Amino acid sequence: MPSVYIKTYGCQMNERDSEAVAAQLVAKGYTLASSEAVADVVLLNTCSVRDAAEQKAIGKMQNLAAEIRRNRPEVVLGFMGCMAQSRGQQLIDQLPDVDLVIGTQKFHRTADYLDDIFAGTRTKVVDVDEEQGSEAAIREHILNGNTAGKSVTAFVSIMQGCNQYCTFCIVPYTRGEERSRAIPDIVAECRELVGRGVKEITLLGQIVTSFGKRDIPVKDGRSGFVQLLEAVHEIDGLERIRFTSPHPKGYGDDLVEAYARLPKLVESAHIPVQSGSDRLLKAMHRGYTRERYLGIIEKLRRVNPGMGITTDIIVGFPGETEMDFEETLSLAREVEFDNAYIFKYSPRRDTPAADLPGQLPQEVKEERNARLLELVNEIGAHHYEKYVGRQTQILVEGPSKRNSIRMMGRTRSNKIVVFDGSERHRGQLMDVKISRAGSFTLYGDPAIINLE
Ligand code: SAM
Repeated sequence: MPSVYIKTYGCQMNERDSEAVAAQLVAKGYTLASSEAVADVVLLNTCSVRDAAEQKAIGKMQNLAAEIRRNRPEVVLGFMGCMAQSRGQQLIDQLPDVDLVIGTQKFHRTADYLDDIFAGTRTKVVDVDEEQGSEAAIREHILNGNTAGKSVTAFVSIMQGCNQYCTFCIVPYTRGEERSRAIPDIVAECRELVGRGVKEITLLGQIVTSFGKRDIPVKDGRSGFVQLLEAVHEIDGLERIRFTSPHPKGYGDDLVEAYARLPKLVESAHIPVQSGSDRLLKAMHRGYTRERYLGIIEKLRRVNPGMGITTDIIVGFPGETEMDFEETLSLAREVEFDNAYIFKYSPRRDTPAADLPGQLPQEVKEERNARLLELVNEIGAHHYEKYVGRQTQILVEGPSKRNSIRMMGRTRSNKIVVFDGSERHRGQLMDVKISRAGSFTLYGDPAIINLE
């Protein structure tokens, strides 16, 4: 059977989609190639959030066509995901070496389309249609990550699409309307993962806090999302639950209170704020104010002062003044984020912000990006320093990515801890004493590992 190599751009949802496609292909008899150079099929799973991500994938495909296809004309090349969805047939018109374009509601059809191409019944396939029920088709897992051992953590896709229509964002157009899976279906998937040795599950969606909004009635003041957390929490053998990304407006008291009530729900939250300026939050169509955002953080820290909080911030949104930007800096100082992903605003086609007056020059975006990054690094370093000398619980995931002779685990608040351990620690929850803090990494003292 042919071998397949999938390269993924963008967010964790894209990583998860690629993993499910890979698992579906393996189930049909395809093998996974170790590199594009030896693969019979190369698929690029794309991201459209910023123009740079799209250009990267297009550049990569041009290279594949020039370097691989030229020597091995039988190799099949394809695009999947967000850019495939938004550009469709255009991609083949622009890059005639491309054989396959698979949209965001069609990942699960990949294996069938490849079968058709190899059987010679089709030469080119473009499928970017909507498909009812496709949100439940991202189910299969590989679970061996990039290391030889079994995965201890897994991502579970609970919904697809987004109805928020932030003015900067292309996602509602590439991922479609919000569609949630059924709770029993998600729980069954999680249960199966735990049966295969998974200890920590991250629930994934564009805006997970909107889960089940249309189909699951609020029960005893608890939203569909909180009901899902409760159902997953019941699974024996599961140790930790995370989720990403929530929307600030989804942080009702039911969710805040869930952190106190559900011990497996770890004290960690990635809550995209985007800006510290009310004027910009309104122009972005975010649906909350700076004060409301700060109120949520305060409530979460009241429930657990050790709550690890990270965020996404956009700099250089159209019309952002120096004063608006300083409000973002002051918000970052006030919240003291553990870390923040900073994005330079990138105009996206068909989004309202792309046509707003006051588009900012690249130099201004670069300069603000650098200033905010410096502040985020400074605050992050201070946070990480506070762990030194403390004992903390980690879940050991496997060898450290940077230094594979050491092991790595994660604290409940989502900080990486590297320590001298061995394979037998994989999957263990254990206490380590933090001896040193590096850049967004902690180091545990092996002498004080509690081996139980
Ligand atoms: N669910 C998230 C939320 O609540 O906003 C959105 C996930 S999006 C894939 C990841 C991040 O990309 C966003 O939070 C935003 O900061 C950034 N982003 C989205 N559109 C962007 C654009 N046009 N330019 C720059 N950054 C953008």
